[in-house]
Amino acid sequence: MSLMELMQSVPTAFVGICTLLGLIVGSFLNVVIHRLPKMMESGWRQQCAELRGEQPIDTAVYNLIIPRSACPHCSHNIGALENIPVLSYLWLKGKCKACGAAISPRYPLVEAISGLLCGFAAWHFGFGWAAVAALPLIWALLALTAIDFDTQLLPDDLTLPLLWAGLLFNSTNIYTDLHSAVLGAVFGYLALWVVYWLFKLTTGKEGMGYGDFKLLAALGAWMGWQLLPLIILLSSVVGAVIGIILIVAANHGRQVPIPFGPYLAGGGLIALFWGQTLTQSYLQLLAAP
Ligand SMILES: [Zn+2]
Repeated sequence: MSLMELMQSVPTAFVGICTLLGLIVGSFLNVVIHRLPKMMESGWRQQCAELRGEQPIDTAVYNLIIPRSACPHCSHNIGALENIPVLSYLWLKGKCKACGAAISPRYPLVEAISGLLCGFAAWHFGFGWAAVAALPLIWALLALTAIDFDTQLLPDDLTLPLLWAGLLFNSTNIYTDLHSAVLGAVFGYLALWVVYWLFKLTTGKEGMGYGDFKLLAALGAWMGWQLLPLIILLSSVVGAVIGIILIVAANHGRQVPIPFGPYLAGGGLIALFWGQTLTQSYLQLLAAP
């Protein structure tokens, strides 16, 4: 029996393989979350230097592959055995093998969440394209959530390919038809763009960033315009709940900007799994006498 046949006939094998893939890619997501904002900053500095007619500042190669992952405290290169998702962290008891410095629990957390969500997508959709396509969406949303949380940025390098990928997958009607996907992208962008300008014109402040518009456009491309109201509603609920928890628990000042990206991502994920069901039961509720 080939691996393909095994995954098709034994649902738990498919769930297991997707979970494993989620754990492995989760480890790479940690690299993306850490390095992508630094790469963007370095790119901006290069451009500014070029505009001023100066020599480039950063000459060392720094991308998602080079240099190799190392301990930020002692520069000890992280070997393959220290890089096994979740397990290495537990085995090393959360400390660097060379210098004993604490490793952030966020690394195994991102890996575990990625693994769990990918396994859940496999179980929820079953063997097929809907489950396979959900994996890159989960990874992009996880990376965007963490990067937005750290830097209040939603990199175009993630949001724009995500939008194209949504249109591409839906060209074969995976989650919705292409027509709904294109309208979803357009109206997703416009919905928050309008909110942004209304807020700015009335209060003089910027409530959110252009990255938020692009992320909602991407979610619209994945799920179709019909789910946009639900995604916005779910994001606001997720945002309100987490916002209140942050203000109460961590004494997070109300003036400190709370990024909107993570909530959009959370709302988007809920809509991916239960959007159709939620919208249908809502419409039935409206139609009920
Ligand atoms: Zn170290």
